[in-house]
Amino acid sequence: MSAQILDGKAFAATIRSRVAAHVDRLKDAHGLTPGLAVVVVGEDPASQVYVRSKGRQTVDCGMESFTHRLAADTPQGTLLALVKSLNDAPEVHGILVQLPLPEHIDTSLVLDAISPDKDVDGFHVSNVGRLAAGQDAMVPCTPLGCLMMLREHHGSLAGLDAVVLGRSNIVGKPMAQLLLGESCTVTIAHSRTKNLPDVVGRADILVAAVGRPRMIPGAWIKPGATVIDVGINRVPDGDRDRLVGDVDFDSAEKVAGAITPVPGGVGPMTIACLLANTLTACCRANGLRPPEGLTA
Ligand code: NDP
Repeated sequence: MSAQILDGKAFAATIRSRVAAHVDRLKDAHGLTPGLAVVVVGEDPASQVYVRSKGRQTVDCGMESFTHRLAADTPQGTLLALVKSLNDAPEVHGILVQLPLPEHIDTSLVLDAISPDKDVDGFHVSNVGRLAAGQDAMVPCTPLGCLMMLREHHGSLAGLDAVVLGRSNIVGKPMAQLLLGESCTVTIAHSRTKNLPDVVGRADILVAAVGRPRMIPGAWIKPGATVIDVGINRVPDGDRDRLVGDVDFDSAEKVAGAITPVPGGVGPMTIACLLANTLTACCRANGLRPPEGLTA
């Protein structure tokens, strides 16, 4: 038997059209247009691609996009002053500073300078705390996308054993908090975890966010489990590279009940959730309830 493939590309398109429909309603009923400001420092080619894609998708959903491109040698003070001006700008509801930042800039200082209410990446320490405390928070986009896919597939997640492999601040830890919020029994595994195959084998839900190509074979996976593969790893394939996940897809899909492919799984959900977060920030800033199904 082979697993159901969880098509993130198709689901992300559904999320984007829900966002666009709600943006239309906000414009008609309240004269509001959500706005997303993206700041990129330096010329990192991958960052430039992401920023262009974010800008295009923001506009496609009917929102305003403001892109600020700064030179690689921009002083930290100049970047902080820009963030402050965006915090004060009423037409900007979401602010994203594209990472990585150049080495001379203190990333934590910049991320914590963003107003928590406009922190659509969910990296501000206030949002980390709010998420942990079970309060309304801006939730990091990749784990939010994983949660939306899991809810779509399972409905209720209550009581399921979830294993999150990886404990980074941007994926593993917030993912674990979200699953706890859904009443899963959550285990976080990492590079010092003992007996990893046994730990993985207990999971009804496995979220892999490690960054090691095809590290998890199908033999580790509990039959029927739902596997969310966050990993994006470039491996040589003939004369060019291709992308693979942290899970060995070919062996895993013979065992799992459902699995996300790489590419086309979690990846497309991340930008869709950025748009959803921008809409949420705009609603909250104006005392309106964010739409159902687009928040944690
Ligand atoms: P990090 O490198 O920050 O974290 C990796 C985690 O994996 C760490 O907690 C580390 O443990 C753990 N780990 C590393 N090696 C092992 C091992 N052999 N056994 C068990 N655990 C291990 O990565 P990120 O969380 O930022 O990203 C993870 C992956 O997800 C990457 O491939 C990244 O490209 C991808 N990604 C994809 C996104 C998307 O949109 N789809 C968005 C963000 C990331 P320890 O803490 O002990 O070192």
